[in-house]
Amino acid sequence: MKRLYIDTVGCQMNVLDSELVVADLRSHDFEPVDRPGQADVILFNTCSVRQHAEEKVYSNLGRLRQLKQENPDKVIGVIGCMAQNHQQRVFKRAPFVDLVVGPGQLHQLPELIEKVERGKGRQIEVSLGRKDGNRLQILRSHESFDPLRDPQMRPTPFQAYVRTQIGCDKFCTYCIVPSVRGPEQARSPEEILAETQHLAEHGCLEITLLGQTVNSYRYKDGEKTVRLADLLYQMHDIDGLQRIKFVTNFPKDMTDELLSAVRDLSKVSPYLHVPAQSGSTDVLKRMKRGYTAEEYREMMDRINEQIPNSAVSSDLIVGFCGETEGEYQKTVDLVRDCRFKNSFIFKYSVREGTKADQLFEDDVPDDVKRRRNNELLALQNQISEEDNQAFIGRSLDVLVEGLSKAALDQARKGTVPILFGTKFASRFFSGIGLAS
Ligand code: SAM
Ligand code: SF4
Repeated sequence: MKRLYIDTVGCQMNVLDSELVVADLRSHDFEPVDRPGQADVILFNTCSVRQHAEEKVYSNLGRLRQLKQENPDKVIGVIGCMAQNHQQRVFKRAPFVDLVVGPGQLHQLPELIEKVERGKGRQIEVSLGRKDGNRLQILRSHESFDPLRDPQMRPTPFQAYVRTQIGCDKFCTYCIVPSVRGPEQARSPEEILAETQHLAEHGCLEITLLGQTVNSYRYKDGEKTVRLADLLYQMHDIDGLQRIKFVTNFPKDMTDELLSAVRDLSKVSPYLHVPAQSGSTDVLKRMKRGYTAEEYREMMDRINEQIPNSAVSSDLIVGFCGETEGEYQKTVDLVRDCRFKNSFIFKYSVREGTKADQLFEDDVPDDVKRRRNNELLALQNQISEEDNQAFIGRSLDVLVEGLSKAALDQARKGTVPILFGTKFASRFFSGIGLAS
């Protein structure tokens, strides 16, 4: 048995990729370990959405320099979006790295690791860039990595992500995803349903469908086109499955058919993550999001009318190129009016090669971005807390996912307070369970 350590940052797509990489490598005689020092192979599954995420990977890699000097046989690999984005640059900044593998090439990992181990030197496998070939060549070079999962190797037996699409074709001007994850490609409904069925048969209670714009899902099957709502109706019939979620939604594709499916299907969670990004139509235009602030508000009205018990969450970017105080205030107004359940708020980060990088200046000073970020976060926290008050005294079914990261650290140190009695607490450590 060889030992594998994997560090994952970024979105749910990366969490799923890491799960699949671990399962794949386990079938090639690897076992996961908790610390890089114990491992024969160390992998960093990376994110490129903001510069900060990339810099953090380089600083984590830097900490391994000495370990590699002392143990030259250890294999160190950078996989995922930063591998695709930086390619040879990774070797330049961290010359002790052995492997660079983009998200569209993960199926090659076992073979590439073996090549490094056999002394064949550094290995790099990335997909074609958006201008590096004809459409078919580019599509083929980004492969969806969805091997059949071994239920015994899954980190959380009761929950799973299932991919509906890879890539993205929306090209929001600030975003690197369409270049690192390639063109949008839908998996067939048969594959998605077979994977869901298989997971449900092995005890999975909750499935979250994943796509960069999951509600844009469309798969042409002869004469008919299958959309996300059709998938939800079919998944609803799968025995054993109790909950279905889907992320992330694109506001323009929030159709009435989809909202009806969420309203009518009891297993579909009325939780909708629909990033607005900004409350100013002028900023949205510069972001090339394809909708106005008024259209976003109309969509919210439709959601609230059709699914009164829904919870809507959002992503927001502050300090995008040229964002004036007045434009930022429109985002504040949007958050106040929409009363999102939760918002992920980001300071704009220039991404090399994106349209925003080419067309606009990153002219909002960092202290202004930080102030807007903090203000918006405080407002969102206040709204979330007020909303949460309404749950006091109510009984609800919950799916216990496990300990939070902080509690897990405490548990490892033996200082976690036992809140639920030892029997229940021990279940916490071995997985998750349904509780009322
Ligand atoms: N596909 C999803 C969507 O369209 O909402 C999410 C993609 S991205 C991984 C997650 C979030 O990161 C985006 O919704 C956006 O708010 C944020 N983001 C993307 N590019 C960014 C950038 N250059 N600077 C700051 N935040 C960014
Ligand atoms: Fe990026 Fe926009 Fe695609 Fe989301 S929809 S991944 S923000 S380009």
